[in-house]
Amino acid sequence: MIIKEIIQIGNPILNRRSKIVANINSEETRRVIKNLIDSMRFHDLIGIAASQIGEKLRIFVTEVRKTKYSNLKKDQLRVYINPEIIWSSKKEITINEGCGSVAYAKLFSPIKRPGKIVIEAFDENGDKFSLAADGMLGRVIQHEYDHLNGVEFTEKSPICEK
Ligand SMILES: [Zn+2]
Repeated sequence: MIIKEIIQIGNPILNRRSKIVANINSEETRRVIKNLIDSMRFHDLIGIAASQIGEKLRIFVTEVRKTKYSNLKKDQLRVYINPEIIWSSKKEITINEGCGSVAYAKLFSPIKRPGKIVIEAFDENGDKFSLAADGMLGRVIQHEYDHLNGVEFTEKSPICEK
């Protein structure tokens, strides 16, 4: 098990756009996925993106569940490689968000985003899947997807300085 320190806000690595994974079934891809899962669980997060552990690849993982931050209904572990959000609902909802990259600041902020999305991605076996998600899963997917494009949730927060 390899636990990575989570890169904190202010580090330019978080502002970079991550790169398409060219070889989904490579040793390198498997290593990044494993490090993401181990780090997410160790830091008690429900999602984490590769940029947050210093990997410039379009990969994130989610595992909505009970953590020290909130008591959420369990969803399975999910791996998203080269994801694309292909549909977002017009209706937006506000949910309080936090982030492993602002964890030391213990900042949580209400963020408004589409209530439901459809995402396409490849899983850890290289199989393409499509997933419709709302509630907390829909929310964490949009948050992690932003990380792949170098966007931190504080940029969408009404209470943070721009
Ligand atoms: Zn985050």
